[in-house]
Amino acid sequence: MANIFGLNVEEIKEAVAKLNIPSYRSKQIADWIYKKGKISFYEMTNLSKSLQEKLSAEFEISPPTLKQRLDSKDGDTSKFLLSFDENTAVETVLMRKNYGNSVCVSTQAGCNMGCAFCASTLLGLSRNLTASEMFGEVYFVENELKSEGKSVTNLVLMGSGEPLMNYDEVIKFLRLIHDEDIMGVGYRNITLSTSGIVPNIYRLIDENLPITLSISLHAPNDELRTTLMPINKKYPLKDVIEAGRLYAERTKRRVTYEYILIDGINDGKKEAAELSELLKGQLANVNLIPINPVRERNFYRPAKEKIEAFLNCLLKSNISATVRKEMGKDVNAACGQLRNRYLKEGN
Ligand code: SAH
Repeated sequence: MANIFGLNVEEIKEAVAKLNIPSYRSKQIADWIYKKGKISFYEMTNLSKSLQEKLSAEFEISPPTLKQRLDSKDGDTSKFLLSFDENTAVETVLMRKNYGNSVCVSTQAGCNMGCAFCASTLLGLSRNLTASEMFGEVYFVENELKSEGKSVTNLVLMGSGEPLMNYDEVIKFLRLIHDEDIMGVGYRNITLSTSGIVPNIYRLIDENLPITLSISLHAPNDELRTTLMPINKKYPLKDVIEAGRLYAERTKRRVTYEYILIDGINDGKKEAAELSELLKGQLANVNLIPINPVRERNFYRPAKEKIEAFLNCLLKSNISATVRKEMGKDVNAACGQLRNRYLKEGN
């Protein structure tokens, strides 16, 4: 049966065309699904009984389903393991912040970037998610928030997967989520994070979407970056930084550079100085992220003083930088691991 969940008004119109339904009906159906959270045609009370029956016989409305849920003790962070089909599940995270409610969206089931510090890549790439599936993640969280009298205000594409390796569906997803008939999330409230797929950063510039670009840097020289992020062999630092510079220049939006701090690996004075040199004069902000430890790799979080020292070194060189405020440490420690356990043990 055809699933119309995640289609926009125009696509719903095309999908139901064979039933000879007046075209204004597709807008009504979209309203029920996206604005009122109804996924049964029988609850769509402005449709006639016979129309409800016809639609139900031909179509389904199937958003992702919940497999597991974890809530942080402080109540600010909730992590959902959502499944789209028997073989595909991803993690989606809700962060309740003082400025709004942010959803961390996965763009692929698994990942094949192979970053040394990341749990999402351990089992490889299962498959790309479709625009409708990514939208389903946000829709699920939106419905959860409704019961708290809240709604989704911000999105970060920082869950599992590399968004720029699933380019077309990600762009389609951004347009879908921005669509007033669907959810109307402002582009300025959306951040896309990439490990630095240079040609697709250039494509993104040409899309003219005022979203924030976040680039995962994690090292200030090619030698170190390649050991942490194998993609650096294909797209070395110089090219990544140049793409970031152009993104800022063309969109007039400050690029965020993510820099995980790993004790004894990339957190020294030398690296801080190199990083300052690399980003000198850029419209950029460095986001320092004390690593979520990966024991299998002996990667640990630096002491507070080292984090402070690294930050101060950047600030002294006039590089704008912040240390990421940690949310839901108790559930984030399991970042990517909820899915891994689920796939390995089937529970
Ligand atoms: N593939 C994209 C988006 C997903 S990762 C990217 O690389 O940016 C989102 C962010 O989480 C990236 O900055 C990534 O480097 C970071 N991350 C991965 N593993 C982490 C860990 N163990 N601790 C802290 N941050 C981590």
